[in-house]
Amino acid sequence: MAKLLFFNIPAYGHVNPTLAVVTELMQRGHHVVYYNSETFEPAIKGTGAEFRAYPNSNTSESDLAERINNLVDVTVFILEESIRLLPFSLDTIEQEKPDLVIFDSIALWAMQATRLQNVSSVASISTFVQEGVSGMLEWRDYLNMLQQAFTKLPTLQRLRRQLVKTYGSAIFPGKSILPCKGNFNIVYTSREFQPDTPYIDDSFHFVGPSILMTTRKETDFPWDLLDPERTKIYLSLGTLYSNNLEFYRTVFKAFSDHSAQFILSVGRLTDIHELGLVPDNFIVQLTVPQLELLQKVDLFITHGGMNSVNEGLNYGVPLVVVPQQIEQVLNGRQVARHGAGVVLAGRPPYGRLDAGDLRRTVDKILADPIYRLNAERLSRSFHEAGGYQRAATAIISWLD
Ligand code: UDP
Repeated sequence: MAKLLFFNIPAYGHVNPTLAVVTELMQRGHHVVYYNSETFEPAIKGTGAEFRAYPNSNTSESDLAERINNLVDVTVFILEESIRLLPFSLDTIEQEKPDLVIFDSIALWAMQATRLQNVSSVASISTFVQEGVSGMLEWRDYLNMLQQAFTKLPTLQRLRRQLVKTYGSAIFPGKSILPCKGNFNIVYTSREFQPDTPYIDDSFHFVGPSILMTTRKETDFPWDLLDPERTKIYLSLGTLYSNNLEFYRTVFKAFSDHSAQFILSVGRLTDIHELGLVPDNFIVQLTVPQLELLQKVDLFITHGGMNSVNEGLNYGVPLVVVPQQIEQVLNGRQVARHGAGVVLAGRPPYGRLDAGDLRRTVDKILADPIYRLNAERLSRSFHEAGGYQRAATAIISWLD
């Protein structure tokens, strides 16, 4: 029996795919101690793993949502967290003496601790591998990123210098700060769906979406309201970008007289009363059992978070991607490249949606079976990749 430590960040998109892997590891007789914010305690305990909270850690999804409007903000947040959590991670590894440490690919503090302590490590990558991907971003995207980074660069440099001064430059092994690589790396999508990049080597294992229904929190849903005779369309902006009344008003405007039935997840951060009048053909919920719902719908209008993209395609559902930030733009463009959906409002400032465009796009996708066929092709590549079981096998074989 091996002892594994898992360090993650407080975001559902990064935690959800790990729950199945950890459940599998525990069932195979290994012991996992999993560190995250208290918000994630029930979900993590549900895997059978031992949950431990990071010190003074009550960062919730709403704190994170307020802080991370773009990737530069994410990097600042992660550097600050590293300054706070690296001493804790070093002590933990020293005391626990794990056989292996698994860290999320943006849990910088954990990657740095494994390097300083010389412990074997696995990175859990819940996005595409974006390093070195070329030909997918336009000059407008780069300009937008530069504008966002410009005012924050001194802060980034200061935080990086502070860490290097205390721990040495080896704690930043790569050219860029993120993502963090381990001795080997698990990516939760298929190699077929991952855009090509020279950054990928033999240490990357593409296991496909890691989906195990029982690991997800049970969420009530009024299933009896779903009309089996009608086309059904699911809409969600995920967990971090969902407080977006403008988007919800646009979709109401686009579809209030449409013949399909719409299921809208507005997220726990949205005040449902502020939505105003909800059209009759909409079911609005704070949160929905997304995996079960995806099995019953004809189309998914999504912000293009990697989990939502993976989960939609896993069930062969075509996508309309309305990205809210650059990573989701990349995800959406990859969906479009594979002919499994369309990106809308994918130029900076991202996510500014026109109701007429949205409606025309939805009707086009519903009328043309090719989108579903392409989504189903990707779904097959996901299933062939082996999922959480393959991830667990790869992790364990690293221990031998
Ligand atoms: N999710 C859910 N119910 C909802 C909305 C989202 O279960 O009503 C889950 C979804 O299945 C996915 C995660 O929340 O696993 C969102 O992750 P994603 O990477 O798509 O977006 P993020 O929230 O990180 O922006």
